[in-house]
Amino acid sequence: MAKKSLCKKCTGLCCRYFALPIETPEDRGDYDDIRWYLCHKDVTVFVEKGDWYINMKNKCRHLLKDDHKCEIYEKRPRLCRKYSHDNCDFVDGDYDYELHFTNDRQMEEYIKLKFDNNVNEKKKTKKVKKKKSKK
Ligand code: SF4
Ligand code: SF4
Repeated sequence: MAKKSLCKKCTGLCCRYFALPIETPEDRGDYDDIRWYLCHKDVTVFVEKGDWYINMKNKCRHLLKDDHKCEIYEKRPRLCRKYSHDNCDFVDGDYDYELHFTNDRQMEEYIKLKFDNNVNEKKKTKKVKKKKSKK
């Protein structure tokens, strides 16, 4: 948590999830692995500044229900101490993700667009080339 004045007005948004970087997918299999993450409830995947992240909506067990304060504030982990308002959810509001997947079906569609459309384009190009060579 950061500036106390802002945190007082907030319900501890930053303590209600965690996000971890994942490897940038390269082939269809990599994208399908990410689809598997997205089959799970409360998991999303986003891309920010070209980097891929998995996000798990899972409240910290130390966030107090009544006043949204940290139960272990004095000995909170390093990541919590380092967190600043520069990345604060309450201040930032909407996110500006390049890509954002909230379920596996979205990734399924994305895979089709990314890989199958390209395949169709290649097939079309081959057909055109064949037609041209017949002339
Ligand atoms: S999201 Fe921002 S305002 Fe809310 S508790 Fe966290 S640091 Fe404070
Ligand atoms: S330990 Fe405290 S500051 Fe850190 S995520 Fe949990 S409730 Fe928030």
